Amino acid sequence: MNQPEHTGNPEHTDKAGGQAELIGRYGDVMMNTFGAPKRVFVRGEGVHVWDADGRRYLDLLSGIAVNALGQAHPAVLSAITSQLSTLGHVSNFFATPAQIALAEKLAAIVTVNSPELAAKVFFTNSGSEANEAAFKATRLTGRTKIIAMEGSFHGRTMGALAITSSEKYRKPFEPLPGEVTFVPYGDVEALRAAVDETVAAVVLEPVQGENGVIPAPGGYLAAAREITTQQGALLWIDEVQTGMGRCGSWLAHTPSGITADLVTMAKGLGNGFPIGACIATGPAADLFTPGSHGTTFGGNPVAAAAGLAVFDVIESEGLLEHVTQLGERLAEQVMALGHPAIKQVRGQGLLRGIVLSDARAAATHDALLEAGFITNAPRPDVLRIAPALVTTAEQLDSFVAALPTALEAAAPRGAQG
Ligand SMILES: *Cc1c(COP(=O)(O)O)cnc(C)c1O
Repeated sequence: MNQPEHTGNPEHTDKAGGQAELIGRYGDVMMNTFGAPKRVFVRGEGVHVWDADGRRYLDLLSGIAVNALGQAHPAVLSAITSQLSTLGHVSNFFATPAQIALAEKLAAIVTVNSPELAAKVFFTNSGSEANEAAFKATRLTGRTKIIAMEGSFHGRTMGALAITSSEKYRKPFEPLPGEVTFVPYGDVEALRAAVDETVAAVVLEPVQGENGVIPAPGGYLAAAREITTQQGALLWIDEVQTGMGRCGSWLAHTPSGITADLVTMAKGLGNGFPIGACIATGPAADLFTPGSHGTTFGGNPVAAAAGLAVFDVIESEGLLEHVTQLGERLAEQVMALGHPAIKQVRGQGLLRGIVLSDARAAATHDALLEAGFITNAPRPDVLRIAPALVTTAEQLDSFVAALPTALEAAAPRGAQG
């Protein structure tokens, strides 16, 4: 259990097709938006991936909360290959059974608290595009103001960036679509003060993943629903990272009893096959009319088949319950380490932020990578893990066992532990 994940032959780093050689080629031809890659991966199976030098890793990030069922899941593989060999793409001039069936599934999870409401879906290829669709829909209400949250992340396209709070991401690209006001996340009174009858929509994440896994405080989502309803504004919930069982329920916001007007999804929906969705309920479902929005690839039957397979497996394997239990167990075990560098574990289900006592998250990430574990550091003091929903307790135990050594290797000079 305490053995490193690495197997194979790590010595061939400069041979053709080895990592050093591939990373050099990457730098020559790939735009430098992500910095130099730390690894080149060549193969995946379940919750493990292998790099170009043959070393194995336990993937606790799942391609940023995407590979809900792990790599090469047989159900997803068979759904994709059988759809692709039957009918691959037809454009949105036409419909396919897979697209309709997936839209029905999404409509059902979004209206679980108010099944009498109509819900309709617009399919996209990514989370940003799902948010673009929602943003455009808000403009058709006759109002233009948007209230967004400090600490938010909604994507990198111009519209999604306009509702993302980080100055670092926004500044170089201004002017962005306007009339967006940011309020402190989780502050009911600030939200109440900001929303009046001129506001088109309030947009928020049920857990702010990119901001270091910060869940909305208890009662906040219900208050946001009440405030938006009172003022005739739409409540737009971004479930791109939190949806599809990641937090232990199909959607992270529905356990609070509310129904949103707009819900956006992507990451876990296709298990790595690109697909996103904007789902609207009630009157918002009819904001778009022929010609008001479109996409060539969105709702492609192969992507839809992948989404349907993910729904099937989560249902048939009882993964929502598993995610809830495993997430709680992980949080308890990490805290039970009693490590001086660990302050808190926050989040829901299998979207967790391990909050550190100082800014050693990036160095801890590096040490864990060396030890064969993939994590990520969304903030200098937060280590994020978002393992596949099919991860076992034993696999998470191996991570917990490796964590103290990584934290110590990452300790800033003079820090405790
Ligand atoms: C990742 C993410 C997005 C953007 O999705 P892309 O597929 O990268 O465009 C939007 N919102 C949230 C909450 C996300 O985590």
